[in-house]
Amino acid sequence: MSSLEPAFPVRWQTMTADGRSLHVMVREQAINLLLDNDSPSFTFDPAGRLHGAFVDGRNYRRTLDNRMLSKWSERDAAGSTRRRRWLTGEEARSVVDLAYGVASQAAEQAGQTPLAVQQALDAVTRWDWKRLEADRQRFESIYTPVGILPPDQYLALVLQATHGCSHNACTFCTFYSDIPFRIKSPDEFRSHVAGVLAFFGPALAMRRSIFLADANALVVPMKRLLPLLDVLREGEFREITETRETGTSAPNTGPSPPVADALPDPTFPHLRSASLPSDSWLLPLFAFIDAFHVERKSVADWQELRERGLQRVTIGMESGHDPLLRWLNKPGSAADVLDAVRTLKAAGMAVSVIVMAGVGGMAYAGPHVHDTVALLNAMPLAGGDLIYVSEFKEQPGSQYARDAVQFGVGALTPADIRDQVAAIRSGLVVYDSSQPPQVSRYDIDEFLY
Ligand code: SF4
Repeated sequence: MSSLEPAFPVRWQTMTADGRSLHVMVREQAINLLLDNDSPSFTFDPAGRLHGAFVDGRNYRRTLDNRMLSKWSERDAAGSTRRRRWLTGEEARSVVDLAYGVASQAAEQAGQTPLAVQQALDAVTRWDWKRLEADRQRFESIYTPVGILPPDQYLALVLQATHGCSHNACTFCTFYSDIPFRIKSPDEFRSHVAGVLAFFGPALAMRRSIFLADANALVVPMKRLLPLLDVLREGEFREITETRETGTSAPNTGPSPPVADALPDPTFPHLRSASLPSDSWLLPLFAFIDAFHVERKSVADWQELRERGLQRVTIGMESGHDPLLRWLNKPGSAADVLDAVRTLKAAGMAVSVIVMAGVGGMAYAGPHVHDTVALLNAMPLAGGDLIYVSEFKEQPGSQYARDAVQFGVGALTPADIRDQVAAIRSGLVVYDSSQPPQVSRYDIDEFLY
């Protein structure tokens, strides 16, 4: 850090014209405004876009395509229930207007503030609903819909080297049904990356990793994949990323701001010890792949990808029960998933696997849990690896929904699904107790970009 750069976080406090206390906190990766006893509070990215808010007991998260998800808890005699819903455009606009109204009040008082605070407020007050709507259009001209990411990558910088899913036929999955699979040429990818960098601008500081999208970009054969990764070593991209702290070390978050939806930690703290090769300069790379395609690359190929910054690969395993995998039209078998994990681990790659509690309903419940636990326990998963347990949610209009009726599999109740989650978790036997993998919940409805 040069002597001219501020030591983050920079804090500043003022009073609004109507006598309310107003705190501004500027961090490298976010700007926070907090009124009164920290509610309402607002988080903006370093470019000034509203990222999240906490107002009247509700959390709000805005997506880059300018939608807003509201989340809150309701208490009754049975306990606390988490709720969420997407706001209408009008409702989202009212949260946006409130946030930028508070920012304007802060800017009006900012005569003698530290330079970092003045610059942050300048960045924030350039925005309003109209500009965020124009920004949405720009976002949509750069990206096709970003269907899903693993939870540890919700704050990744998504770069779409491919579009859609090469398989696109699992009966339960509707993420990419309207997006034909396509591999970008290096020139197309270069132009996409340039567009992404220009779009994020200073807000890149909020992003601590790169997610190579879409669903399974790593199916791309090495001959075509390496030139795409070479794009990330070029000019502007390299200049930006090589000076950045990577997700392998703790970001400078400072004390957590009392903002209920403050910038979440983009990496799981204890996973930061997973080390990249010493000569790596890139932000760490992450990606999905289906198990079936892992074996199309050799251990040496995976080692080469690791040397180019690929830190962890996420596999949608779903189940260890082969008849269920076939019924779901998943590519590959339980044995393929095990081989895939062994190959990746042999290459020194971290792995995360996703299993779906409740998929296959009553018809498959017993063998699904049994074989899933058995498969997970056969995997050489250790520290830096992740097991995600996702509660299955049937997508309306999916092939799964039609098959479930036709074959009478019988949906499980939410309580049954939670029991499956508990059964899977309690059946896990850690491969190496000195460095266990992390087991986490994966709620696909929490994802937004
Ligand atoms: S491989 Fe993954 S992304 Fe593709 S259809 Fe199956 S679940 Fe969906």
